[in-house]
Amino acid sequence: MKSEYSQKIKAQPPIKEENITIETPKEVAAGLPGVIASAKHIFGEMQVTGGLKTLFKVNQFNGFDCPGCAWPDPDHHRSRLGEYCENGAKAIAEEATAKRVNPDFFAKYTVAELSNYSDYWIGKQGRLTHPMILKPGERHYKKISWVEAFKLIGKQLNELASPNEAIFYTSGRTSNEAAFLYQLFVRQYGTNNLPDCSNMCHESSGVALGETLGIGKGSVKLEDFYQTDLILILGQNPGTNHPRMLSALKIAKEKGAKIITINPLPEAGLMRFINPQQISSMASSGTALTDLFLQVKINEDIALLKAIMKLMLDEEEQNGGVFDHAFINQNTVGYQELIADLKTQSVADLAAQAGISLIQVTEAAQMIMEAKTMISCWAMGITQHKNGVNNIREIVNMLLLKGSIGKPGAGTCPVRGHSNVQGDRTMGIWEKPKPAFLDKLQSTFNFEPPRANGYNTVEAMEAMYEGKAKVFFAMGGNFLSATPDTEYTAKALQNCELTVQVSTKLNRSHLVHGKTALILPCLGRTELDMQASGKQFVTVENSMGVVHQSRGGLKPASPFLLSEPKIVAQLAKATLGKNSKTDWNKLVDNYDNTRDAIEKVIPGFENYNKRVRKKGGFYLPNCARDGDFKTASGKAQFSVNAISQHQLQADQYLMMTIRSHDQFNTTIYGLDDRYRGIFNGRRIVLINPDDMEAARLVQGDFVDLVSTYDGVERIAQYFMVVPYNIPQQCIATYFPEANVLIPYNQFADRSHTPISKSVVVRVRLVD
Ligand code: SF4
Repeated sequence: MKSEYSQKIKAQPPIKEENITIETPKEVAAGLPGVIASAKHIFGEMQVTGGLKTLFKVNQFNGFDCPGCAWPDPDHHRSRLGEYCENGAKAIAEEATAKRVNPDFFAKYTVAELSNYSDYWIGKQGRLTHPMILKPGERHYKKISWVEAFKLIGKQLNELASPNEAIFYTSGRTSNEAAFLYQLFVRQYGTNNLPDCSNMCHESSGVALGETLGIGKGSVKLEDFYQTDLILILGQNPGTNHPRMLSALKIAKEKGAKIITINPLPEAGLMRFINPQQISSMASSGTALTDLFLQVKINEDIALLKAIMKLMLDEEEQNGGVFDHAFINQNTVGYQELIADLKTQSVADLAAQAGISLIQVTEAAQMIMEAKTMISCWAMGITQHKNGVNNIREIVNMLLLKGSIGKPGAGTCPVRGHSNVQGDRTMGIWEKPKPAFLDKLQSTFNFEPPRANGYNTVEAMEAMYEGKAKVFFAMGGNFLSATPDTEYTAKALQNCELTVQVSTKLNRSHLVHGKTALILPCLGRTELDMQASGKQFVTVENSMGVVHQSRGGLKPASPFLLSEPKIVAQLAKATLGKNSKTDWNKLVDNYDNTRDAIEKVIPGFENYNKRVRKKGGFYLPNCARDGDFKTASGKAQFSVNAISQHQLQADQYLMMTIRSHDQFNTTIYGLDDRYRGIFNGRRIVLINPDDMEAARLVQGDFVDLVSTYDGVERIAQYFMVVPYNIPQQCIATYFPEANVLIPYNQFADRSHTPISKSVVVRVRLVD
């Protein structure tokens, strides 16, 4: 039975009175408003001189990597005016803030009191300064020494009946060096329970691309955008989530490329862009990006892509010259099966299901047929569905028909949302490690790694909820707010004997915790990292597979912070003791030693320390980019994928969770969503005006959102109704506020990515 006190702890962002204002959505991204917003955040959190100096260091050859998304930097040059976007500036301001969360702060607030503040308020309190502990039954976090903290964790881990009772989660900001050491420690400890944030975002991409092209990563380089005829953007909002992509799209347009975007929302960043770094652009109304906008219904991308491919097939059969048969015959398998399936399809039915007119489908097919090369880009709007893997296989089908893979200006581009999420996976942060990787680890470090697969994120939630897992350790992130089914995850975390969070800032996962809870404050990406051998740099891998340096230079927020690699080394020594033959001190005294170890274990990192010191770093091998498809058949794989089956009742909607423009994953930078015209609030639901009329709703009404799966009702309360240009029976809300509606056990086939973009809900008017 939960105590009265613990019942006061809020797992969900509390419902706060908000004075939300609604304006007409914008049709152009960035420009002067972007510059003003960047300045507001940077100078709001840092001193002017420090702020400016830091901005001129981000994403520069000898600077630090932006802790935001994983969009690449230009290979050969960096702009002196700066290589960052508005949301990069916000991410830096959050980390380099002058505000501090120190022991006095924790003495002032109980955990329950803190949990009744909004995520925005919690995140704005500043940088953590000291290791903190919350003992069983206590209400305030208290200071603890690093030595005591590691001793406590080591003891708890060694008292478990099995290493599989512990879970080691990773968030995508963790550097290559920290990630490699972390997986090494965890595997020496004896488990593969290494879930990561990739499980919740691009896991569907990894599975689909692995099956069809033989590598779970995108194949294009940044320069391909400047050589392509056509860019297809599906289920992605780059204006907010990968803003510097807009610069690449602008250059592509200037070089003659066409852009087709497929999205339920007409996002400003897809339509027009003013480049703040170009006076000519600032003096203009911006560059039109999208040539053809296909406002598809939520999760009807397969129907739309099939309709387009069917028209391409019709033209191919009538006049030929549409499909690249030379490429298909030499490099692919499964072509006949796809063609047979397309022949059974009705373009009219598919178009209707997708909510797109036949005229637009025909126009799209024409544009694609005219393009010699094309690039397909996508993000969560494609991956976070039950059929997320099949969505991506269908995207690949179209590229293969065009032979648009493995050559300049062509290929796949899943755009990663977290700065090193791809690097972490490359380093071995995966619950399903390949035998070859474990063999290398074994021969290099002389121990027997566990061979059984571990828990992915959803399985980790279940294991904690069912009491099978008793210790939860998170390297960064905000597990509670990032995962689906918030109340379920809360119970899972509260079931644990011990929860440990390595963090830079306070977040809600610190407030919903195990019987004992520890917060371990680490260095940020912007900060100077001194180890025994002197200044250190770390490395990261962006969405295009470029491994490059990141050198922080700012004075750490507190003298009591440790770097992530150092935390792992100390933890390993405290837990493994004499059972480990690894010289953990050597590995962190100079990170070159860790990189030497990575070179021994992971293919593609030859001469790692030498090559990564070169300007811009180096590209990892990519078989799809080279047209050498390492699939089961040794060929690129066509596939036949079923169209979605969302049989909605009249009063049901498909809900997609989205980020506001003032948000990065679960970090809330501000309460405005400037591009969508929503200001000073977050509990909103975007809904089609005709649906509002049918449901007798008006702007400003408040509603509860209700999902019912397997007879279990989940409610997200008190959302303001906002009329919006979105297809009928489709609605959009922000996460983490709406994550409570997403059932933990509803996820994508084969990838287990939660269905955050297509949740069936009803809307209930609040009296
Ligand atoms: S595009 Fe992404 S990586 Fe680049 S500055 Fe913006 S947030 Fe940072």
